Amino acid sequence: MSDCLFCAIVAGVIPADIVSRTEHSVAFRDVNPQAPVHILVVPIQHSADLAAMTDDRPAAGHLMADATAVAQAEGLSPDGEVGGYRLVLNTGAGVGQSVFHTHVHVLGGRDFAWPPG
Ligand code: 5GP
Ligand code: ZN
Repeated sequence: MSDCLFCAIVAGVIPADIVSRTEHSVAFRDVNPQAPVHILVVPIQHSADLAAMTDDRPAAGHLMADATAVAQAEGLSPDGEVGGYRLVLNTGAGVGQSVFHTHVHVLGGRDFAWPPG
C-alpha cells in the first residue's frame, strides 16, 4: 500500500532496526520501546488489522508463529530468566492502534501488570 509506513519499512524504503525476516513477515524494533524487548512483527502483505487479515487464516497463523519465534530468539522463553513475553495486537484506534498495517507487538524483559491499561 503506497502510503503505509510499515509497507515502506518492509520494502526497505524507510529504515528500521530489522531483527529477522521470514517468507511471511518482517520483524523490527519499535522506535519507542515500552519494554527492554519491544519488537513489531508485520506481515509482508498489507492488511489494516488482524480482523481484516482473518479471511486468510493461514497468513494469520504464520504471523503468530513468526512472532513466537522472534520472542524465543530474544530469549523470552517462559522457562527462562525473564519468565515469558506478551504479544499484543491493537485492533482499532479506540484501543490504541496508530499504524494501520497489522502488527504484533512482542514485549518482554520486564514485569507486566494485568489487566493491561
Ligand atoms: P500501535 O499503536 O498501532 O499498536 O503500534 C504502532 C507502533 O509503531 C508504536 O509502538 C510505535 O512506537 C511504532 N512506530 C511508529 N512509527 C515507527 C517507525 O517509524 N519505526 C518503528 N520502528 N516503529 C514505529
Ligand atoms: Zn502496509
